[in-house]
Amino acid sequence: MAEQIDGKKIAAQINSAVKEKIRGLLSVAGHVPKLVSLIASGNEGAKIYVNMQKKTADEVGIEFVSHEFDSDISADELSNEIAVLNADDSVTAIIVQKPLPEGISHDKVIAMIRPEKDAEGIHPYNLGKILRREADIVPCTPGAVMKILSLSNVDLYGKEVVIVGHSAIVGKPLSLMMLNEMATVTVCHIGTAEKGDLIAHTKCADILIVAVGLAEMVKGDWIKEGAIVIDVGINRVDGKIVGDVKADEASGKVSLITPVPGGVGPVTVSILMRNVLRAYKNQNVKV
Ligand code: NDP
Repeated sequence: MAEQIDGKKIAAQINSAVKEKIRGLLSVAGHVPKLVSLIASGNEGAKIYVNMQKKTADEVGIEFVSHEFDSDISADELSNEIAVLNADDSVTAIIVQKPLPEGISHDKVIAMIRPEKDAEGIHPYNLGKILRREADIVPCTPGAVMKILSLSNVDLYGKEVVIVGHSAIVGKPLSLMMLNEMATVTVCHIGTAEKGDLIAHTKCADILIVAVGLAEMVKGDWIKEGAIVIDVGINRVDGKIVGDVKADEASGKVSLITPVPGGVGPVTVSILMRNVLRAYKNQNVKV
């Protein structure tokens, strides 16, 4: 039977370390770190995520300020807002909640944030640093996956890692982070599913990471006996939250698995806080 990875416990561990480090930096900085959240949609899922961020920020000693805009905000207005926050020395980091109103490019908005204030680690500069093995402020979900594996004492050296999903915020940066740890990495996507042999790949994985957004897509017989499975997916089905992996089928075969909910999700929020801490340190401690 699989051992479940307790994401909440790992998140609590990270939060407590972040809190202690912030406390230690307070006298040098002279002010608490401030995370500003920009939200421009009435999306219920986004609001729930913002509340989780605020709760965790309060817990670790980060001031959380939410700027809410109507969904008819223009790209220029949003860009002016970011310019003001970029120039404000009291603002440590900025997060732009998804979704943005139609017609506003999330990528372009993120690129306007000063990289040192990029709370989510998805500014092109911060993504590029992963390639150079100099990552500091990292994309939150890939950062969460890496932290979960390291705290679970999983050695990645030489392991067959298969990532399903190649989005710019999850699959792609995660593949580089895995490569930096000397794993052998295969990245699968819609092309693999449509014209390749997705199951042949997933069956080879020592560590299988699924970030697609299709409820219970990965069945038990897609998984190698004894594999480690990290399920990033969050899908709502009949009012219930399920992952991208059919958990009941997988649990009889794997050695370790993250549950949904309670796996990668809470750790992702903690990595966001760790990013704010890193931004705070970089802005206040001169080396
Ligand atoms: P995207 O929609 O941006 O990316 C999904 C990826 O899956 C794409 O690379 C897509 O390929 C690929 N894909 C789609 N269908 C298939 C298929 N049938 N077989 C193989 N690959 C396929 O999603 P995100 O990366 O943003 O998120 C993925 C999931 O993770 C979602 O459920 C999301 O809610 C969840 N999530 C969870 C977080 C957490 O903290 N736990 C944080 C962020 C996301 P292509 O682009 O080529 O179509």
